Amino acid sequence: MKHLPFRNQEVDALENSLLLLNETEPSFQESRDELRRLVGEWDNYGRNLRKMLAKNAALAMRFQGQWKAIVEVTDDGQARLAVSPQLPSSFSRKDVAVNLFQALVVHPDCVKLGGPCKYDRCGRYYRKNTRRQTSYCSRVHSSKATAKANIMSRLADDRADKLGRARESVAQYEKLKRRRDPWKVFVQRRHPDISLCFLTIAEKRYGLQAPLSV
Ligand SMILES: [Zn+2]
Repeated sequence: MKHLPFRNQEVDALENSLLLLNETEPSFQESRDELRRLVGEWDNYGRNLRKMLAKNAALAMRFQGQWKAIVEVTDDGQARLAVSPQLPSSFSRKDVAVNLFQALVVHPDCVKLGGPCKYDRCGRYYRKNTRRQTSYCSRVHSSKATAKANIMSRLADDRADKLGRARESVAQYEKLKRRRDPWKVFVQRRHPDISLCFLTIAEKRYGLQAPLSV
C-alpha cells in the first residue's frame, strides 16, 4: 500500500478521492470500484450519511473506529486540526477505499464532489466549481452534450415529419384503383427526401403501417 498515488490523506481527502475514483491503473481497480460503489450509495441516500449508516452496520462500525487528530500548519502559518480515520491493523484494498470515503465525508468541501460526468462515456468524477455544475465534468463536455441533445432533437423532429408525410402517402396509396408501383416507391416519388431505407426502418421500428393489400 506504500504506492498509493494519493497525497497525504489529511491534506485533501476530496482530491485524493477524485484521484482514486478516476484511477485507470488496473492495480487500483478494486479500491476504485469500492469507492465508486460507496459514493454511488451515498448519492442514493441523498448524501445523507445517517440514513446510509443506518442500513450499513459494517460501515457504521468503521465510523465508530479510531480517528487520528493531527495539527496542520497552513502556508500562512495558521494551525488547524485535521482528523483522519485510521485503517484497521490488517486491511484489504477495499478497506483503503472505505478509509478514503470516511475522510471524504468529513471533508468540508465534500459537497463539491461531482460525477460521474454524464457526457457519453466520459464518466469522470470532478470537483464542482459552481452549484449549477451538476452533470458534467467541464464546460467542454457540457456544451458538447447540449450540442448532441440539439442534434438528437432535430433528428427526432425530422423523423416525425417524414413519418407524418409517409403516412399520408400510404393513405393515398390505399385509395388508388390501380397500384402501379410498390408502395415504398410511390411514397418516395412524392417525397424524394424520404428514402426507401427510411421507410423500411420506419416500418420495423416506428410503427409505419404498410398499406392494406387489395
Ligand atoms: Zn466529462
